[in-house]
Amino acid sequence: MRTKQQALFIIFGGTGDLAKRKLYPALFELYRKGILSEHFAVIGTARRPWSDVHYQTVVQNSVSADDQQQANEFSKHFYYQSHNVNDTEHYVTLKKLAERLDQKFQIGGNRLFYLAMSPRFFGTIAGHLKSQKIVTADGYNRMIVEKPFGRDFKSANELNRAIGQYFAEKDVFRIDHYLGKEMVQNIFALRFGNNIFRSLWNSRYIDNIQITLSEALGVEERAGYYETAGALRDMVQNHILQIVSLLTMNMPASYSETDIRREKICALKALKIYQPQEVKQNFVRAQYVAANGLKGYRQEDQIDPKSQTETFVAGKIFVENENFSNVPIYIRTGKRLQTKATRIDIIFKAVPGNIFTTQQLADNILTIKVEPEGEISLQVNTKKVGQGYQLQQQQLNLFPADKLQLIPEAYEKLLADALSGDATNFTHWEEVAYSWKFVDAVRHAWDQQRAALATYSCGSMGPKQADQLLSADGRHWIFN
Ligand code: NAD
Repeated sequence: MRTKQQALFIIFGGTGDLAKRKLYPALFELYRKGILSEHFAVIGTARRPWSDVHYQTVVQNSVSADDQQQANEFSKHFYYQSHNVNDTEHYVTLKKLAERLDQKFQIGGNRLFYLAMSPRFFGTIAGHLKSQKIVTADGYNRMIVEKPFGRDFKSANELNRAIGQYFAEKDVFRIDHYLGKEMVQNIFALRFGNNIFRSLWNSRYIDNIQITLSEALGVEERAGYYETAGALRDMVQNHILQIVSLLTMNMPASYSETDIRREKICALKALKIYQPQEVKQNFVRAQYVAANGLKGYRQEDQIDPKSQTETFVAGKIFVENENFSNVPIYIRTGKRLQTKATRIDIIFKAVPGNIFTTQQLADNILTIKVEPEGEISLQVNTKKVGQGYQLQQQQLNLFPADKLQLIPEAYEKLLADALSGDATNFTHWEEVAYSWKFVDAVRHAWDQQRAALATYSCGSMGPKQADQLLSADGRHWIFN
């Protein structure tokens, strides 16, 4: 059970897309559940000259409420300050407003600074919060930062240093919203709460792991950012490698932030870093081309018609720790694919010796459908009812999709964690650092080789080269 929290949120980027689509609805859910009640307030800041009343209307419109009165009461906790993050004077005004609201709502000095804007401002904001004494002495002061955390190890390290001058690691909450997803959190219960999985979770019994994060949308309004990032930086460095760490880490000594993060760091440190030639063998990058009435990537607004940015990446990676060193982990992510889905398949090794000589045994596959279904199932072989002895494949449904409506949004869970000071589902700096080191090696090889990008049609499941990556090993994508 979560207890009632008291906190002042200061959101930098309060007029932005993320704030409206994710943060305000998440805060409203915490309010509806009573985790936030009287003793909280939010200061939204951004450059636009909005009034408090206008801001409160925006907040109210961004939450879907059956109870309009409740949404109205909620919005009365929101205040707006027009603020240029580079202007020291604005922090003086911000401090006064923060102190006034702290008094008014009896918050007790707890502050959460949410940086929902471009990372290039993070260092400046952190410095001003300290120098202008917006951090308090009598409560906690936590900083939540959004992705992307750098664009390679070097820039991430610089960013971390800029923040680290003012905020201790324990107070920096780096968001990876996949860690707030119910089904991703379920990996722990499956792996460490069941001896049948715990004892089989190693290279003796697991043949390979497949992770797919597919998106049906194109670049939409994020084209400018995407063109400078690409799928490897945008999805692999963070979400996919985080999932890899949860699947391959050793069992932590306890279910606690320190022990879990320690083991995740070890797993990411054990990622096999590829030489350029190995990147060529183990990674595929591609771009979507027009099909099914949809534009190709190079025809999208704000995109260079000769762009070399990958909108799809597939790869075979290894975590060289005791349990997983020989288990290929196939990963895949891209835009404009057939469907929006996040799915993990754990394929177990075949039974050694098939006594049913005339019939093939299907693989045992543990499937975690992170979204849209929110479902966990296990494929097994059973006997068909009736005369003779025929086998059939069956799906044991371990976590049926009908619980979907009970699943809280990732941001709601992560904000509740940050309020209670639990950083388990946020990424530690060392996790970020090892992930970038892995990704940098791939990026470096691509930049060196200048190899032509593969292409795939909008609405497909990616280029044929991504299928060949598995067929070369005598395997195929389970999710197709
Ligand atoms: P956005 O462009 O919609 O909003 C940016 C905000 O920053 C606006 O409120 C703008 O007024 C403010 N801003 C910009 N320059 C400023 C300045 N000099 N002083 C004060 N305010 C300034 O961006 P967004 O989509 O809301 O994304 C915000 C952050 O969250 C980015 O780092 C982005 O990468 C990350 N993110 C966004 C999403 C998403 O779904 N939108 C998803 C993941 C991560």
